[in-house]
Amino acid sequence: MVNVQSSTIGYPRIGGKREWKRALERFWNGDISEAELLATTEELRLDSLAKQRKLGIDLVPVGDFSLYDHVLDTSIMFGVVPKRFGYTGGKVSLETYFAIARGTKDAVASEMTKWFNTNYHYIVPELEGITPQLVENRPLAFYKEAKEKLGIDGKPVLLGPVTYIKLAKSYGNENFASLLQEFTPLYVQVLQELAEAGAQYVQIDEPILTKELSAEEIEQVKKAYTAMSKAVPQLKIILQTYFEKIANYEAVAALPVHGLGLDFVHGDSLSLLQKYGFPKDKVLAAGVIDGRNVWRADLDKKVALLQDILEHVEQERLIVQSSASLLHVPVSTEPEEKLDPVIKGGLAFANEKIAEIVLLTKGVQKGGAAITAGLEESRKALAALNNSKYRQNTEVKENVAKLTDQDVNRALPFAERIQAQEQRFQLPLLPTTTIGSLPQTPEVRQTRSKWRKGEITDQAYEQYINSQIDKWIAIQEEIGIDVLVHGEFERTDMVEYFGEKFAGFAVSEFGWVQSYGSRCVKPPLILGDVAFSEPITVKESVYAQSLTKKPVKGMLTGPVTILNWSFVRDDIPRFDVLNQIALALRQEIEALEKSGIRMIQVDEPALREGLPLDPEKHKAYLEAAVYAFKLATASVQNDTQIHTHMCYSEFNGIIDSISALDADVISIETSRSHGEIISAFENNTYDKEIGLGVYDIHSPRVPSKEEMKQNIHRALQTIQPTQFWINPDCGLKTRKEEETIEGLKVMVEAAKEVRESQ
Ligand code: GLN
Ligand code: ZN
Repeated sequence: MVNVQSSTIGYPRIGGKREWKRALERFWNGDISEAELLATTEELRLDSLAKQRKLGIDLVPVGDFSLYDHVLDTSIMFGVVPKRFGYTGGKVSLETYFAIARGTKDAVASEMTKWFNTNYHYIVPELEGITPQLVENRPLAFYKEAKEKLGIDGKPVLLGPVTYIKLAKSYGNENFASLLQEFTPLYVQVLQELAEAGAQYVQIDEPILTKELSAEEIEQVKKAYTAMSKAVPQLKIILQTYFEKIANYEAVAALPVHGLGLDFVHGDSLSLLQKYGFPKDKVLAAGVIDGRNVWRADLDKKVALLQDILEHVEQERLIVQSSASLLHVPVSTEPEEKLDPVIKGGLAFANEKIAEIVLLTKGVQKGGAAITAGLEESRKALAALNNSKYRQNTEVKENVAKLTDQDVNRALPFAERIQAQEQRFQLPLLPTTTIGSLPQTPEVRQTRSKWRKGEITDQAYEQYINSQIDKWIAIQEEIGIDVLVHGEFERTDMVEYFGEKFAGFAVSEFGWVQSYGSRCVKPPLILGDVAFSEPITVKESVYAQSLTKKPVKGMLTGPVTILNWSFVRDDIPRFDVLNQIALALRQEIEALEKSGIRMIQVDEPALREGLPLDPEKHKAYLEAAVYAFKLATASVQNDTQIHTHMCYSEFNGIIDSISALDADVISIETSRSHGEIISAFENNTYDKEIGLGVYDIHSPRVPSKEEMKQNIHRALQTIQPTQFWINPDCGLKTRKEEETIEGLKVMVEAAKEVRESQ
């Protein structure tokens, strides 16, 4: 038997400098060929594997790499291609692969949604009317590649059948048993081929097991895993879970697999071991290093945690690893030369986390004395950050402690204040608006980047931004939109923009993580006490408003989203950080209002995704979220209208909390989920105003007027026309200018026609 081993369960795909993103986008633009794309990404993939091995990882994951999304990879592996893409069997071409993800002129893209409670998005499988077959054994190809090209005997990673089916569109629940039976032999085939090729380990990801399954479903899961492990007795299957503790622990722990991967950071898996023990015949892959945060771990605590874990499993049966795939963190802190060394020293991105995993593994193997120097170095770096100036703002801490209920309630209830707002704004029935951002052309981006590099002056940059605002206010007026936006041209990212301007934040240079497809985000680092320093958005909003008589919406990112899309310090309670952000935003909102901006949108696209996976944690989270949103927004006048935008979210079961935010208007994505979201509002007494997006902005395709009208009519079956706003699904930042103008024109025409028919 081997001694304790180290592993990771996935590594960032994007490369330290986002080489992956660039290659993909160049390919989509026709600047490089398929062969060039594949060559670049192969190099990147092999580098990542070699790096992990070099840093000392024993079990290196292979096959976690993707050209878009690993759920989509699983679909195409089994020929699961929706009919509208004209697929006729065999290995799925790259063209079809990207068509499913991004849509084409003739076929809408598959739905995309958030991967559990992360900001990573996957492509939702559509299983209706499809007979799955194994058309490409992708894990096998990646396994062979690593072995042949690097001599690495890797641990192939695949998304497990239970999770895959459960995440599929609508079918996951009704037909679970039959689908699982259908997929099991295909998985068996994948595993057999891997075993034949010499693979020793395989990691099967089943994060869905953190959610409660019914007794019947558990029976089905047992059947599937029994079939798989019987077929390949020589292959060591690690059933990998993450993001929470396992819900049906006893049943899952009894499944006939070699090992079980548990998350000890985002779920209290230790309590499960203490309560139920750990099966004597299994390997425990213990996720002790946080795969979802960027801070250096308190290694003394991790050593203690490992000791607790070792009460329940022999050292020979232990694997030390990250709590989740490192996909959710950036690659390395090494190139961060501009960060204060105290901050940099407190950070650990993927490579630094791997070093922590390797150190802890060594500690278990050789005893604590073997790693004293490493522990000491880590302690020092953490203490430096804790004692730094960033964490000593006593005033902010006191202000948060002083908050009362009065601070978080609007002066009048919605039904009364909406009258004052109607009076002020005089909007038509079914008013049209957009969600905030307008196309960020290469020119916009280049100008910003020049300004950042100091190649153009502040004044020249401001003039340029104003010229964009001029142009787009004119376009919006010309199209006939009722409520305008300034366009967010000054922002690279809706969270980073605020992060750069509030105290308590830092922004890394290369700290990118994948959000969806080639889109990466660079979450700001909330490392200290958050505070308002000076107005952030007032200048652009006031300028835009000066150009038009129509209302211009102020545009802010909400406290919950700033929290959820940042890497948040882990030395104080998360909800304390949340209230610090809310207080800072409250000051920004008051500044906007004072400058005459009387419609203010506070975006909360990440509110729903932050909902904890464990239902027992829901209440506390939702209460804290509602409290913070209200804290940020409640101090405005009755005739100031607060909007919020919640993007792609699943609202079933949380409508009451959405309502409790007490925003006057909410906008939500609907078209990409093909209308399903509306059902959440059926039979609900949602009494405020609402805009359900009438067209998908993730695809270059501009829908016809008829299609948009249908979307509007569909929404009007559930929502009163007097409550209803018309807008695209989300911001238009990633769209081209022509597409945007075309899309908005069609939208306004559709709105006018429906308005007239009311
Ligand atoms: N106001 C933002 C925009 O339009 C909202 C983005 C989002 O919901 N993710 O880009
Ligand atoms: Zn959105």
